[in-house]
Amino acid sequence: MNASRAVIELRDATKSYADGVHALRGVDLAVEQGELVAITGPSGSGKSTLLQLVGTLDRATSGTVQVAGHDVSVLSDARLSALRSRHIGFVFQHFHLVAGHSTVDNVADGLLYASVPLRERRARARTALERVGLGHRLSHTPGELSGGEKQRVAIARALVGEPRIILADEPTGALDTASGEMVMSLLRELNATGTTVCVITHDNEIADSLPRRVRLRDGGIVSDLRTAASPCANLPTADPQCVKGTTP
Ligand code: ADP
Repeated sequence: MNASRAVIELRDATKSYADGVHALRGVDLAVEQGELVAITGPSGSGKSTLLQLVGTLDRATSGTVQVAGHDVSVLSDARLSALRSRHIGFVFQHFHLVAGHSTVDNVADGLLYASVPLRERRARARTALERVGLGHRLSHTPGELSGGEKQRVAIARALVGEPRIILADEPTGALDTASGEMVMSLLRELNATGTTVCVITHDNEIADSLPRRVRLRDGGIVSDLRTAASPCANLPTADPQCVKGTTP
């Protein structure tokens, strides 16, 4: 563990693939506990790669990635799984729910790697589903739910382990406007209780409504802007955890 206030910290992080694609080129980014961050940029700019490194689903080619105070490059796969199950919840554009399984079991799966007995997993899943307004859909399967409801199930699965960080990759990308707004308000509510939330979005309206917007292009951060309401806005810009925006 380190003494930094950042719950996510990348230093000069790069990611290159075998075919010579440089998906990330020296990214420096610090996110404090409790921030709500939009990650934007054109297709192919490295957004998903960045989220995968932060989510410890992939490793950086060079540089360092720290999550919840741990340098993930030195952790074994087993310890990375433990870190993920304790600290990180994921939400994806296309929900990633198991077809044919009830909403309770889909959400209970979020605790599969946390060594929680099945009965308790299901009890906690029911509570999480109530929290996202789906207490009346416990035994439905994904095929019986609307897109917005599926994403709320996915959010319940992400939050059931009470993670410090939620990483969402285009969570509204497959939804109509009203469902997308519902999903964003759930993510805001989670953030208001102290969860750090990073959201990839192509939707400028959503990005502009969030307190911090990090924009990528060609694998690098080209701007990092905060609104006045952001937790870091009143801190000195020299604070390495709270560097203000650079290029517009
Ligand atoms: P974005 O999420 O902004 O659309 P990505 O992070 O998915 O961008 O991709 C960044 C670049 O890395 C793109 O050029 C993409 O084609 C490439 N890339 C992503 N994943 C892989 C992979 N597994 N193998 C090779 N290239 C990849």
